[in-house]
Amino acid sequence: ISISVIDYPALLNEYFNKFRISQAIFSACELGVFDLLLQSQKPMSAVEVAQKLGTSEDGIERLLGVLVAIEIVDVEVVQGTAFYSSTDVANLYLAKTSPKPLHDLIIYNSQTIYPLWNNLVDAVREGKNQNEKTFGLPSEEIFSAIYRSEEEMLKFMGLMNSTWVIDGHDIVTAFDLSSFKTVIDLGGCSGALARELAKEYPSSTVTVLDLPAVVQTAQRHFTQQDDTICFQEGDFFEGEIPPADLYILARIIHDWKEDKNLKLLKKIHTACHPGGGVLIAEALLFENRRGPTMVQMFSLNMLVQTEGKEHPPSHYTRLLTDAGFRDVQVCRTGKSYDAILALK
Ligand code: SAM
Repeated sequence: ISISVIDYPALLNEYFNKFRISQAIFSACELGVFDLLLQSQKPMSAVEVAQKLGTSEDGIERLLGVLVAIEIVDVEVVQGTAFYSSTDVANLYLAKTSPKPLHDLIIYNSQTIYPLWNNLVDAVREGKNQNEKTFGLPSEEIFSAIYRSEEEMLKFMGLMNSTWVIDGHDIVTAFDLSSFKTVIDLGGCSGALARELAKEYPSSTVTVLDLPAVVQTAQRHFTQQDDTICFQEGDFFEGEIPPADLYILARIIHDWKEDKNLKLLKKIHTACHPGGGVLIAEALLFENRRGPTMVQMFSLNMLVQTEGKEHPPSHYTRLLTDAGFRDVQVCRTGKSYDAILALK
């Protein structure tokens, strides 16, 4: 799309104001507005909402007003009093008990990402993450910052989990993976993507390898009865990588500096059975660097939070080839994350 100079004042004004909309949604989620409206059998006045949520009447009325304006809450005025009710969008995505909950993602954005982005100027000046300034934690230990408490670990894992519950099927079907009988998801977190793979390829054995505390949390909070996957505690940088036919690296490469990624991929190549491969899931930049906008945003986010960045396909092809892999294939899924398969 090309935007004319004449369009710009209105567009810039819209961009400046978007943080207010984010904050209105974040606040409504934190206050439990969507949960209350979902549970309520009838439309509620601002006074009733304020009483139930323990807020000021004036504050909640203004917040509900914004939510109505952006069409995620509905309103009807009866004899001068506004009565608020939920919408399909809010019910489907925004309450804790929604069938496709984005609640964890919203809370994570509100309590972790937003404070980090408040230090964006310093991140750009210094070229490094802002964990120290934002949370008082060492910038080189990125997962100590992400897992700074048990509650934070659970929130992060919930966020990772929700992506693959929604988009995991597109990654595991981007290529035919049926010939890979043993699969290890390195840094597989809660196991959501591994479960999608096990569902699609029931004759494959799928193991998630992650840091001990993450595996223990996954087993306590994210496993199901008759789980289709196994968990193994480990450290992909410091420890052994067990042999397998296929390794998954989903949102791993974008966390780390290039030298660490190359070392990791070489280690995987050594452990991989002949004819096996590695499947990378990442958000890919266009080669001409003109987007996608969300991926450029992710890359800036990686600056404030990690030591890595987002890349175009050519970067992954070079990295995989340097590590000894061949036949690199790239599949843009059209969703948030894309898939790259390379063979040994
Ligand atoms: N692959 C998952 C996904 O896409 O949902 C999680 C991606 S998350 C950005 C990075 C994962 O790498 C986390 O689960 C983290 O615990 C794990 N991790 C970080 N350092 C690790 C290490 N040294 N060894 C094993 N796992 C590690």
